[in-house]
This record gives sequence, C-alpha cells and structure tokens, in this order.
Amino acid sequence: MNDNADHSSAMASRLSAGRLFFRITAAFTLAFAGIVLWLVVDQHALLESMDTLQSKTLPSSIEQQRLARNLEVLRLEGERVLEARTPESQRQSMFIVMLMASHPSLLSNEQARNLAIETELFLARAAQNKHIDDSERVEWSRLSQRLSLAADDISVNGVNLAQADIRNMGEIVQQGRHKLHGAMLLVLVFLVFLLLLIRQLILRPLQQIDQALADLKKPSRSVDLPAYALRELAGVRQAIVQLHGMMQEHEQARDDLEKLASTDALTGLNNRRHFMLLAAAELARGQRYGRPISVGLADLDHFKQINDLYGHEAGDMALRAFADLVRDTLRHSDSAARYGGEEFAFIFPETTPHEAIVLAERLRSRLDALVIPIMAGQYVRLTVSFGIADASTQTLEAALRLADDALYQAKRNGRNAVILAATATQAMLPLHDKRDSSS
Ligand code: GH3
Ligand code: MG
Ligand code: MG
Repeated sequence: MNDNADHSSAMASRLSAGRLFFRITAAFTLAFAGIVLWLVVDQHALLESMDTLQSKTLPSSIEQQRLARNLEVLRLEGERVLEARTPESQRQSMFIVMLMASHPSLLSNEQARNLAIETELFLARAAQNKHIDDSERVEWSRLSQRLSLAADDISVNGVNLAQADIRNMGEIVQQGRHKLHGAMLLVLVFLVFLLLLIRQLILRPLQQIDQALADLKKPSRSVDLPAYALRELAGVRQAIVQLHGMMQEHEQARDDLEKLASTDALTGLNNRRHFMLLAAAELARGQRYGRPISVGLADLDHFKQINDLYGHEAGDMALRAFADLVRDTLRHSDSAARYGGEEFAFIFPETTPHEAIVLAERLRSRLDALVIPIMAGQYVRLTVSFGIADASTQTLEAALRLADDALYQAKRNGRNAVILAATATQAMLPLHDKRDSSS
C-alpha cells in the first residue's frame, strides 16, 4: 500500500507528455511572437521614416530647391534690369524681379526674404536712374554674389535634409538585418534544443523500452530500465517491471508445478510416471549409441511390520530415511523413483548390470547398517531386496519385468539381497550377512 502511494506520488510529480508538448509549444509561440514583434518595431520605424521622407523632407527639399532657383532667377533678372537696352525690356525684367521677390517660397525664408527686399529696392532705385554709376555696379556685384551664395546654401541645405533621412532609413534597415540574423540563430538554437530534448526524453527511452520488451521473452534476464521523466513512459516502465515480475512468478509456478507433477510428495524422489519418461529417454539414448544401461527394482523387506508395530507415521519416516539414503548413495547420473508403496525403481545409464549390482549392493549394505529413529527413543532397522536387469537390448517394460522377477527371487531367497535377472545370480552377498528387518 505504502509502496503504491509512493509510486503514485512519484508519478504525479512527473511531467506528462501532453504538458511537455504544451509547454514547448507555448515557449516556441512566445519566442516566435517576441521575435516578430522585435522585427515589427523596426518595420514600423522604417515606415515612419519613409513617411517623413515623403510627406515632409522631400517636399521641403523641393521647396528649398525652388527657393534657390527663384533666388537665381531674381539675380539673373536683376542683371537684365541693369543691362537692359530699352526701357521696355527693363520694365519687363523689373516686373519679374518684383514677382520673384513676392513669391511665397521667398517669403517663407527670412534670409531670402530680406535679400529679395534689398534686391528689389536696389533695382527699383537703379531703374529710376538713367545712368548706372560705378558705385552702384560694385554694390550690385556684391548683392549678386550674396544672392548666388544664398541660392547655393539653400540648395545644399535641401539636399542635406533628404540625405539625413535616407541615412537614418539605411541604419534602420541595417539594424533590422542584424536582428533578423539574431532571430534566425535563436530559432536554430531552439530547434536544436528541441531535437535534443525529444531524443533524450522520448527516443532513447523508447529504444530502451523496445529492448526491454524483446528481453521479456527471456524471463531469466532482469529488466534494467532507468527512471523516466515523462509520466507516460514511467508508466510503461512500471508496467514492464510488473510484467517481468509476473512472468518470473509464472515461470517459478510452472517449475514448481512441474516438479510437483513429477515428484513423490512423501520421499521427494521422482514419481512413477516421471520415472517412466526419464527411463524411456535414457534407454532410447543408450540403445541408439550402443551404450550399456541397467534398471533396478527394490522392495523394502517386511515393511508391513513397521506399520503394524509403530504406526503408519513411523512407516512414513522409514520410507523418507530410505529415500535420503538413496540420494546419498547414488551417482548424479543415476535416477531413482518411488515406484509403489515401499517399492523403488532405478535407472543406471552408462552402467553394465554388474556395475549396477555394485551400486545396489552398496545401497543394500548401507541400509542394513542404518539405524532409523522413528520417535523419541525408538529406532527401527530395515533391509531391502533388489532385482537388477540389463536394459541395453530390450524395452523398458521387459527390463523392469525381468528386474521384478529377480526381486521376487531375492525375496524368495530370504530377502536383504541383490539379484541379477536372467542369470538369477545372487550378487556379492554372502548368505551369513543376510538379516531380516527388525526394530
Ligand atoms: P515383503 O518383504 O514381502 O515385501 O513384505 P512387506 O510387508 O514389505 O510387503 P507387503 O506388500 O505385505 O506390505 C507392504 C506394506 O507397505 C503395506 C503398506 O501398508 C505399506 N505401505 C505402502 N505404502 C506406504 C506408505 O506410503 N506409508 C506407510 N507407512 N506404509 C506404506
Ligand atoms: Mg511391496
Ligand atoms: Mg515389501
């Protein structure tokens, strides 16, 4: 319960893929909007600057040019007034001078206006005199020079006005270009960061999960997945770990069940059904390669007496003691099984009947010497009779039948003996060693 609570709080503190996606989208949108705004500010300044140029600077520059030209016209007509050959042409020129001097463009500029008034007065005065003397010529020459200079000044001024605006626009465009480069770099960095994030948070975990799912087919392997930042992936990881645990439990349960189905509950030895499968497989292998193989059947002697004298429980303990002795005595390659109540079966691969007799004899003599405790202060002794048969040239059933015959023979011979089938030879046991089982 506590683990579950810990797990859910850990899951809750994780970021979900949906929320991550939302945050990334929001961050990207914000960054993009910021960049667009940043660029729009420049665009706005540029438009404003163009507007100023169009609506103010250029008209006033044109106005300045017109003013300069008018001053020049004033000067030229003044020249004509002084140089006129006929009174008519002088009057015409004087008329133009007066027109120019009262032109609105001249009136808007104080310096030009004063100069124009001065020029008009001087020429009006000079036109009244029939003859123009030297001092007047000198004065005109100075006035004409001043008009010329003023026209130049005003013209240059007008050009400068437009140039300042154009320079300003150039700076704004340049600045905008830098900003655009900066923005592109920012977008690039953001994209690289995004790709790395996707790789780290999504792609790599997906690869690891894919590998872990492939590994699930081999349940013996442990699941080795790191913790993930995204809640969904952490959930998948958790599910895989749980699934792996369940598969291992299932595997264990299957092993247990298999063992249960093949094992005798009382003694822990193989049961008869499993023994028959094992022995048949061993027999087939031995016979295919022409190898020696033997079987044996054993029956505890006068076992009923133990039950009768000490009870069924004591009988069970004696059966378990014999099974322990079997496990201790047999080689790893041999198999033993509880074949019936107090009957046991053996298969000895790679073993001739005579070698099997030695093994059986070892078991028999050890049991003969064994004192089995059954309850507080009480002991029993047991003996066993064996029948051994060669299994290298016949079926398992036939070999077991022969072993059973030999066992019957051993019983008839007085028990506590090992007999080889067919030859019915009593093996390796002198008669005087024989003993009946007793308490
Ligand atoms: P023999 O030497 O001729 O084999 O004599 P025996 O008494 O061993 O043979 P018998 O077939 O007369 O008796 C076998 C006894 O084994 C009878 C049965 O109560 C006992 N037995 C069989 N299975 C079990 C068991 O699982 N537990 C106990 N306690 N006794 C069992
Ligand atoms: Mg029996
Ligand atoms: Mg018996």
